Amino acid sequence: MKAAIYTLGCKVNQYESQALGELLAQNGYALTDARDEADVYIINSCTVTAEADRKTRQHVRKFKREHPESIVVLTGCMPQAFPEDAAALTEADIVIGNKNNGRLLELLDTYMKFGNRVVKILPHENKEAFASTIISSFEERTRAFVKIQDGCNRFCSYCIIPHARGRVRSKPLDDIRTELETLADSGYAEVVLVGINLSSYGQDNGCSFAEAVETACSVSGLSRVRLGSLEPDHLTDDVLARLAKCEKLCPQFHISLQSGCDRTLKAMNRHYTTEEFRDLCRKLRALFPDCTLSTDVMVGFCGESDDDFEESLAFVKEIGFEKIHVFPYSVRTGTRAEKMSRHLPKQIKEERAARMLKLGAELRSAYLQSQIGKKTSVLFESTQKGGEWFGCTANYTPVRVKSDVPLVGKILQVEITGAEKDEYCTVKLIDTQ
Ligand code: SF4
Repeated sequence: MKAAIYTLGCKVNQYESQALGELLAQNGYALTDARDEADVYIINSCTVTAEADRKTRQHVRKFKREHPESIVVLTGCMPQAFPEDAAALTEADIVIGNKNNGRLLELLDTYMKFGNRVVKILPHENKEAFASTIISSFEERTRAFVKIQDGCNRFCSYCIIPHARGRVRSKPLDDIRTELETLADSGYAEVVLVGINLSSYGQDNGCSFAEAVETACSVSGLSRVRLGSLEPDHLTDDVLARLAKCEKLCPQFHISLQSGCDRTLKAMNRHYTTEEFRDLCRKLRALFPDCTLSTDVMVGFCGESDDDFEESLAFVKEIGFEKIHVFPYSVRTGTRAEKMSRHLPKQIKEERAARMLKLGAELRSAYLQSQIGKKTSVLFESTQKGGEWFGCTANYTPVRVKSDVPLVGKILQVEITGAEKDEYCTVKLIDTQ
């Protein structure tokens, strides 16, 4: 039997698709690309926005239309958050949530035996255990994303994810170690620790986020450990002091800001003020001298006035993030913000997004320019025809270089020689061994 997995959404979903793929492969399925013929098509869905739901529905229908004889499975966050909508998608032969996707093989067997549609979406529960899986590879050849945390207790007013992912749960430290050793044995030099609310790691099992990072960094065979998105209020002085001692930890921190205006942060039910965020950035820059700080910013949230937006823009500029991701607010069914008053017109959201993006591009260009002349190390990850090689520095600055010598998988010393707009730096190799 051939199976193909089509993944929508974040790195946590990509990790879970990898785990599902390995489960299928260990049980006799041949994995194939979702563009090819397969007996089973699995859509691992995302539900972060209404647009993500639309794409999920579109892909379920497309796979069934193009492959009417194949089994179409819908799993992931969309069925978990909106079980009735998912069950109504009759083009999917099997519908399961992310809670019980480990039962995929059993449900496939049931479907093949009886031919009846299977809809099994179990709700998340309080005190649910982390569903531990161990992957041995990832779609990228040099960097693997590893899920060590799931769920979120926060309920930001715009966000549906706690409904899709349940409460905070953490991968046991021993499982983190085993998985990272397995990946190191498979040749991975770098891992990125990811979660739904990564820095809440340990709130359920008496461990701490710092302990998880220390465990990851202690795995011999790995050269770099990188962190996914972090919540600012989890990064206490104690956590920072412990992270600063982890030599393999890449000095790149993606800290979710969402707004640089205290009134908007309160309306969003975020748990920090701009003053606290500013203080955290100061501490990170002091402890990790060459670090980069990146963030997510939402613009046009309900009730965000012109002044609130200007404050947010000024704050982003003041912090001088090396990279920002900008999202115009979009209403999400089932959230508190859906019921709030003063939703803004699309045009205002788009204008604000354009201004925030422009600032982001200026900050990025200035940062890349400032790197010229620096000597640093790069892990090379990919290549293109024409002998060009791409990689990232420890602080996640993308670089490219021409070389006749194959570079993928190597960590090499380089000197940064140029910067191309807000996109990447060019480098010269100092060594090629
Ligand atoms: Fe959503 Fe907020 Fe939890 Fe992030 S911290 S997943 S934005 S509720």
